[in-house]
Amino acid sequence: MSTFTELYGRAPEGEWAAPGRVNLIGEHTDYNLGFVLPIALPQTVRAQAGRRDDGLLRLHSTQGGSAEAAVTDLAPGGVAGWAAYPAGVVWALREAGHDVGGAELFLDSDVPAGAGLSSSAALECAVALAYNDLYGLGLSAPELALLAQRAENAFVGVPCGIMDQMASMCCRAGAALHLDSHDLTVRQVPVDLAGAGLALLVLDTRVKHDLGDGAYAALRAGCERAARLLGLHSLRDLGFADLPSALPQLPGELRPLVRHVVTENERVEEAVAHLDAGDLAPLGPILTAGHASLSEDYRVSCPETDLAVGAAVAAGAHGARMTGGGFGGSVIALVEAQAADKIAAEVTTAFHAAGYATPRTLTAVPSEGARRIA
Ligand code: ADP
Ligand code: MG
Repeated sequence: MSTFTELYGRAPEGEWAAPGRVNLIGEHTDYNLGFVLPIALPQTVRAQAGRRDDGLLRLHSTQGGSAEAAVTDLAPGGVAGWAAYPAGVVWALREAGHDVGGAELFLDSDVPAGAGLSSSAALECAVALAYNDLYGLGLSAPELALLAQRAENAFVGVPCGIMDQMASMCCRAGAALHLDSHDLTVRQVPVDLAGAGLALLVLDTRVKHDLGDGAYAALRAGCERAARLLGLHSLRDLGFADLPSALPQLPGELRPLVRHVVTENERVEEAVAHLDAGDLAPLGPILTAGHASLSEDYRVSCPETDLAVGAAVAAGAHGARMTGGGFGGSVIALVEAQAADKIAAEVTTAFHAAGYATPRTLTAVPSEGARRIA
């Protein structure tokens, strides 16, 4: 494996790390300006970096290969493939008026890519933090998260909300991030899984169905249309108690979307109340109810994630749900720590019986957000 020094002929100026995430609850709520509750994973994207004074951006990823571009040439649509994520961050910084130049970046990652664990935001945030330090920008974590999101929205072309970038930038070890997507206020909510004898299993189904990209934009547009029809700025402004009067005012196809978003915001608040009380097992049924809402109302699940949730719960998990945008990706299951291996094995058996590939299993430990490591 090559290193920064072998590739670029000098030592890096520093090294930064940004994690992937799983979201405990609060799915498809961020772009409706509601609530989410992610934790950062121990898995990170690491960026070794050094400035260049000739305006050239040189990129290398152990997983993705090499690319380069002049920073003055960066434009949406102008960089293909994985390099659009880091190049998009540099573009977003310059668009925002930060006079940043070139750099050499050497990237390496153990966040599974395309598994719903937000490797894309981890990549963006590692690069954003590296640039912030290298060029002495002094931007805050939420400011960097917004720039990373802008890179993904406007440069890469993925209309994602703000959860993934805020999770990667702002999570703390031992805590879930209670984020209000409306104003980006955050609260660190302690999550002591080990102290409660529990573990959070991540079951990566290793499938990603193609309809995901277009469907995400359509769902987002549906939510925005529903808010307009109800005379609201966003669905964030619709409370649980308002649902019975609001739903009949909407066309039939929008009702399940609104029901999901409103009940999901409510589930986030319930989950936070249990965590604040130090009572973790009751999160299980909240996760499972959230999955049913995603599957039946929001319709972003798929046979593989439904099977993983069903098999985990049948094997004794307190609860389980898909995490991330959907149409594949990963499922989380809240389990008794001593039953984790058995439950993972039973999900695997169910996958094989259905003719699916063996899911990849990780254990999610609430970990630290983006940071400088060297
Ligand atoms: P997720 O964020 O859930 O992992 P996405 O589809 O949003 O899934 O992002 C995955 C994409 O991010 C990959 O296809 C690749 O372009 C890019 N990516 C993630 N990690 C790396 C990496 N280590 N090196 C190069 N590209 C990466
Ligand atoms: Mg992503």
